[in-house]
This record gives sequence, C-alpha cells and structure tokens, in this order.
Amino acid sequence: MLISADSHVFEPPTLWEERLPAAYRDRGPRLVADGDWYVLAIDGVPPRKLARRGADAGGGTDGHGASTPPGAGGADVARRLADMDADGVRAEVIYPTFGLFVDLIPDPGLALACARVYNDWLAETFLGAGERFVPAALVPLGDLDGGVAELSRVAEVGFRAALVPTTPPAGRPYNLSDYDPLWRTAAEAGIPLSMHTGTGTQPSAERGPGGAVINYVAVGLRSAETLCYLAASGVLERHPDLRVVFVETGAGWFAYCCERMDEAFEEHAAWVKPRLAAPPSHYATHQCFVTLGADRAPLLTRELTGVGPLLWASDYPHPEGTFPHSREVVARIFADLTDAERRAVTHDNAARLYRIAP
Ligand code: MN
Repeated sequence: MLISADSHVFEPPTLWEERLPAAYRDRGPRLVADGDWYVLAIDGVPPRKLARRGADAGGGTDGHGASTPPGAGGADVARRLADMDADGVRAEVIYPTFGLFVDLIPDPGLALACARVYNDWLAETFLGAGERFVPAALVPLGDLDGGVAELSRVAEVGFRAALVPTTPPAGRPYNLSDYDPLWRTAAEAGIPLSMHTGTGTQPSAERGPGGAVINYVAVGLRSAETLCYLAASGVLERHPDLRVVFVETGAGWFAYCCERMDEAFEEHAAWVKPRLAAPPSHYATHQCFVTLGADRAPLLTRELTGVGPLLWASDYPHPEGTFPHSREVVARIFADLTDAERRAVTHDNAARLYRIAP
C-alpha cells in the first residue's frame, strides 16, 4: 500500500465569504462573475478563473487553473476514500487548492483570518475522519507572531502537518533569527512544516517562447534556494527536531543542492559562517524531505542522498499527478530499486514522519 505525501482538497470556493469575520469578508476570497467567467477575487491578489459561466462541467479547478475531474478531490470523505482504495493509497497528506494563495494576500491580518477559516473547516471535515487523512493547516507568515500562534493553535486541535510559504515574505529571508520561534514551535509540536510549490510568491510570468515550461521549472527551483537557507545558515542545526518537506517541486534538485552546498562548505571554508558541525547535506538529508511523483532523477541519485528524504506522492486529483494509475507508475519507476527502498519511499518514510499507525 502507498502513502501519498501530496494530495489536494477542493475546498468550497464560497468558504471565506461565508465564514470570515464581517470586517474582512468583502476583501477575502470570494466568487464573482467577470464576463464569461466565474473568478476567485482576493484583495491584492490577481483574480483566478474558476469556471465558465453557464457551463456545467460538474468539476472544479485546481490551484494551477486546470480543471479537475467531476467529484474528484472534493471534500467528500467517502468519495476520497473510494478513490484512495481504487488507487492503492492507504493514507494521504492533504493540501488546499484556493488556500495555496492565502499567503500571497498582502494584508497580514486578512491572510491570517483566511488561514483560520480554512483550518477550522479542514479540522471539521478531516480531523475526525480517521487515520488515513493527514490534513495540513495553513500558516501564513506576513504576521510572524500571529503565524506562530496559529501553529500552536492547530497543534492543540490535533493537526500533524502545517504549510508555510516556500518563499518567505519579501525582505525577511529564512536565515533571520526572527523565525526561531516558528521553528521551535513546529519542532516541539512534532509538526513537519511543508513548503508546497508555488507558495509565497506570484508564479513566474514569462509569457514569451518557452514560458509555460520555464515557469513550471522556475517555480519548483525556489525550493532549492530555501533548502540552502535552512541547511547552510544553521537553522536545521539549531533545531534538530525540525522537519521540513518540499512538496510538488520535482525532486532531482535535492541531490544537486546537497553536493553543491558541501562543495562550497569545504572548498570555500575560509568564507563560510557559521561553521556547522557537519556539512550542510547532513542536515538536509536528516531533517528535510522532498516529494516525487513520476520523476526518476531522485531515485537515480539516491546514492548521494539516501532514500530517507524521499516521499512518494500522487498529487491527487491534479491532472499532472498519478491518480488513478499510481500503482503502475510506482511499479515502473521503482523497477530497479530494492523492495526495502521502494517501501521506504512509498510508505514507511511518510508513516514515520506523520505518525501514521501501521
Ligand atoms: Mn500538490
């Protein structure tokens, strides 16, 4: 059986209109008609097209604007369980769809209010629905103290995963000691912090030749930079119980970063500070994780990283994910690995990280 370390819920697009405090309601995410389209409007964030007006496709849209199969990926627990059974998936970590945009909201108070609404809804929908669901709470960092307080609150409620932006707020890089309360709170609560692709900054906007491909790769590589900030700056060394998961970025860059960071650490030693007790790759491979779907680069470079940091994911229900053919994809990409290696990446690493009972 498989554990998907990256799946998505399709939350009701009217969630925030219904639940935000009155003071925020007309600035938060709301469904509005715009010409031929329904769009999700949020103050300070470019509107996202959701569906054509009058069309009755029966489906929804994912975080990248692509349409999802009717019914799939919704908040219907029974439907999700049936899809998981059909796909051989025993448990899944659940990320939002529209919620991925919350940390792009410029007003920190509004962003935090939106996160609370999402987290409350997510808890009602999935926390009581059994061991097979590991929903990830939203923790925006525009108001850092508020974000840390929200992380503490969701830990109390019983969340075992939380989402922080891959790219931190402008001018406040992750190597600032300001973030220590965040790392400490996550470590003490035993909550791995996830950084999903596309969070924290607007997606790249190359519109010229190659744009779609360039943007897709560039947004994934922002995780590489964040890994270096956490490993080289001493954040991971100072917080040995902190766990960080890079989600839906492809995973081939992880081995590259480990080698490249260590090369700088050894060859440019005179300029390196802090002098970590071990090379940066040690912290990266022991405390960080990266999800893979159908990509083979992280498997072919496992000699450099070990299989410990690798987590398989279906990205259900997105079209670029492996649902409903996950078992076939896993059989193909793991064909040259040992059973123990395959089990670690497709099940055991995630089970340990998220405390999913056997
Ligand atoms: Mn995803």
